[in-house]
Amino acid sequence: MRLLIVEDDVMVASGMKLGLTDAGHTVDWVGSAERAEQALEHDSFDLAIVDIGLPGIDGLELTRRLRERGLTMPVLILTARDALHDRVQGLDLGADDYMLKPFELPELLARLRALLRRSQAATSAVLVFGSLEMDTAQRRVTLAGQVLELGQREWTVLEYLLLQAPKPAAKDKLLAALTGWDKEITPNAIEVYVSRLRSKLEPSGIALRSIRGFGYRLEWVPSVVHAPTD
Ligand code: CA
Repeated sequence: MRLLIVEDDVMVASGMKLGLTDAGHTVDWVGSAERAEQALEHDSFDLAIVDIGLPGIDGLELTRRLRERGLTMPVLILTARDALHDRVQGLDLGADDYMLKPFELPELLARLRALLRRSQAATSAVLVFGSLEMDTAQRRVTLAGQVLELGQREWTVLEYLLLQAPKPAAKDKLLAALTGWDKEITPNAIEVYVSRLRSKLEPSGIALRSIRGFGYRLEWVPSVVHAPTD
């Protein structure tokens, strides 16, 4: 998933960026609401983490503006422990959840998983498609009960496909989930990850169908599975 961090505290922001990147997300970071608004003009994100205390426009006003512009991505606000009023106002202005500073990374990751699931209409941390199971909390994928080893970008592509399934996933959204500002991936690189995933999934009856001019769709084709011959 592609996340935007809006936080002026360099230490907090870089710690979050590191932890979230390790967890498999693509993370971009801006230090002010103004920069966030610019970023959202031309980039799309799956979720934003917004600190309330920012220089210039604060995180509450930013949240209000994002909703006013019709952006529906989940927004998680970061607030000081004693600022009840900010939390209430933030939720009223359109934030989906909040974290009290300071917080522990595992809790932030769990809240993000819950928010991303809700926004993608998934109900559990385990995404299932045919014989494929992706446990997003344990970061483990199994195929017909066997653990499947995936590179980080293969994981990102597969997670996106699973969240969209049975609908197709748009190639430009996949690209956005893979590329932050400080990474370079060409649209063609997606083909590489898709073809690696195909070769891992197809023997178990899961096809990754290309939809011309749009993207890719997971399809469950159990008949592809070859029955044991003995
Ligand atoms: Ca701050």
